[in-house]
Amino acid sequence: MSPPQDASPEDQPDGRMLTSLAEIPVQRVNKIGDKRAEALAAVDISNVLDLITHYPRRYIDRTRQADVAGMRMGEESLVLARVDAVRTRRTRQGRALVELDVDDGTGALRVTFFNQAWRARQLPVGTEALFFGKLDSYRGKRQFTNPVVDLVGNRTGRIVPIYPTSEKSGIAGWEFGEWVEEALRRAGTLFDPLSARWRAELELMGRTEAFVAIHAPQSFPEQERARRRLAFDELLRLQLEVVMRRHVLERDSLGIRHAVVPSAGAPALVDAFVGQLPFPLTDAQRRAVDEISADLAKALPMHRLLQGDVGSGKTVVALSALLVAVQGGHQGALMAPTEVLAEQHYLGVRELLANLVVPDPERLGGSRPLAVALLTNRTPAGERAKLHQGLRSGSIDLVVGTHALLTDEVRFSSLGVVVIDEQHRFGVEQRNTLRAKGRDTSDGGGADPDLLVMTATPIPRTAAMVFFGDLDVTELDELPAGRSPVRTEWARTEEAEKAAWSRVRAEVAAGHRVYVVCPLVDGSERIQAKSATEERTRLEASVLSGLRIGLLHGQLKAADKEGVMESFRRGDIEVLVATTVIEVGVDVPEATVMVVEDADRFGIAQLHQLRGRVGRSDRPSWCYLFSAASTPDAQMRLEALERSNDGFELAEVDLELRGEGAILGTRQKGRSDLKLASLRRGDRPLVEAARRVAESLLAEDPSLEAAPHLADEVRLFVGEAEAAFLLKS
Ligand code: ADP
Ligand code: MG
Repeated sequence: MSPPQDASPEDQPDGRMLTSLAEIPVQRVNKIGDKRAEALAAVDISNVLDLITHYPRRYIDRTRQADVAGMRMGEESLVLARVDAVRTRRTRQGRALVELDVDDGTGALRVTFFNQAWRARQLPVGTEALFFGKLDSYRGKRQFTNPVVDLVGNRTGRIVPIYPTSEKSGIAGWEFGEWVEEALRRAGTLFDPLSARWRAELELMGRTEAFVAIHAPQSFPEQERARRRLAFDELLRLQLEVVMRRHVLERDSLGIRHAVVPSAGAPALVDAFVGQLPFPLTDAQRRAVDEISADLAKALPMHRLLQGDVGSGKTVVALSALLVAVQGGHQGALMAPTEVLAEQHYLGVRELLANLVVPDPERLGGSRPLAVALLTNRTPAGERAKLHQGLRSGSIDLVVGTHALLTDEVRFSSLGVVVIDEQHRFGVEQRNTLRAKGRDTSDGGGADPDLLVMTATPIPRTAAMVFFGDLDVTELDELPAGRSPVRTEWARTEEAEKAAWSRVRAEVAAGHRVYVVCPLVDGSERIQAKSATEERTRLEASVLSGLRIGLLHGQLKAADKEGVMESFRRGDIEVLVATTVIEVGVDVPEATVMVVEDADRFGIAQLHQLRGRVGRSDRPSWCYLFSAASTPDAQMRLEALERSNDGFELAEVDLELRGEGAILGTRQKGRSDLKLASLRRGDRPLVEAARRVAESLLAEDPSLEAAPHLADEVRLFVGEAEAAFLLKS
């Protein structure tokens, strides 16, 4: 591939800025009047930049156009046909149904739309349109159900772009295409932030050409080259943001050189802790502890992501980091996303650290037990006040908690290390709030704590680079020895379910424990809790009669939850019927069976996480996924779980199936400016290239002073507040 010809930005350094296009209302484009502008506003397009970055959702190849007469059953085809009749009615379930009779001169076809009442307005009798769909038949009639539709207008191109939502807004694809063409023509040469040298090296086309080609490609390879270029720009903006964020943190940082090797007279807490563990560290844990220790010893605060599969033993690694802080006379904080998890971490931490002591000159003997506290929203007011006091005075060494740690009242004497568990549930802002508590100590002489964030299940490398690009990464790529892999079975039939319940009984009889995760129901936590309660009653009265069954859901009081978990641990409860509150982190080694009802309602990561609640000892374990679902998507998910126990592998599958939302949820995805770039494996080289370019640009010019246009662009796309903070100083 040779670099394509285009107007070089070096000849015309004043190409038009994307930021300036954002200031031109769509009405300034010929043919877009107020009415059209209103329709566009309804799909969030108000300026020229919105217009040209509203990319086609797919493309139809008109050379592959077929005749109605020649179409074959079950095959996807594209036909150009005229609407002869339109009927609108409702199905028995009350869904809108629009039925068209269309004809292309070779034959007739029925076209049926469900829940798309607007199609009747879009496709009145006499309209000529392209229909792309899979031929099926209904009551002996050949038909398309919910096909892709495009009004051709007078477009002649071989490749027809199909725009998302343009039909719904009453705007035809050809119209939209014309506006974009007009807008791009008037805009002329666009400013290209990428130098000719980088473009040549990375084989990326020019920006102007890419915008033209993405909307009106001459060929599919050209379309892909355009996508690559514009996707690169999206990734570059994000990488500039994360690399700058990293630089700002480092530049302004006031770190702590932690006493990784305890100074004379100080307690060797990490050694004592590791020494008293009932197991040796895995090699991976040892490597992780070493990497983290090296960070902690440095003056720059650590920003590290600890990735590891379910059960790889992240907690021990995190604790040893926290203990480094304590052995140097600082405090540690561990934040978890849910109360159940925080409570469990607290219990676990207290147990693991039970025999450790720290110096205390005010006490007889000069020492006291290491103090661990739990802070959640359910901590009673009186206790909370005492706890706040203890954190301020330094009499509490480690605090485990939820979001409650983020409130203003929480101030530390000297916060040395922060660990955030299940980072994907927290935003960057929350991460920063907790970090800031290191600086803002009770005596005003604070520093920036070292930060370790952990993920519950692995995140694919590409995605980690994009969304956690400001963090260094440590991977725990090894499970503790002696774990037998969980046998996973997708129970599709009643027979299979029966077999699962007998396994449950057999395991209980053998003294082991069982989880049953209830179907996910829509609605509030309250509704979910009610449904779990009913499920428990049902199981007790049927397949699980005679067993000691407990119930755990989010609506229980903290003390009750703790009580239930305690009984389950002891074995007073044999089967725990639960909602997904047990999803993350819950650790009862005697549990050997996990039953997930309506498993198709859960995502891959969630199922893997649930499955991770068993197989936590050397006893054989089972995971049964109940589901009669037959959608291809559900099948792929459940089969993936059956096939693989490897969280890194499953994360990739999840990403392939669901895209970036799989990792971050929609909120963060929304502001991430990824319209064309994908975090799927295919774009990994592009992500790496963007990282390289960002680092190189910022190495020469840390706040993009010499590239104000690019800085403006990052600010525009990446989120005003965030980028303003990064670029201001
Ligand atoms: P996760 O990485 O999923 O958070 P945990 O930290 O909860 O995993 O550890 C899972 C279980 O494995 C815990 O019961 C923990 O005590 C145990 N564990 C951790 N490290 C080891 C090890 N090196 N050898 C044996 N068991 C370990
Ligand atoms: Mg964990």
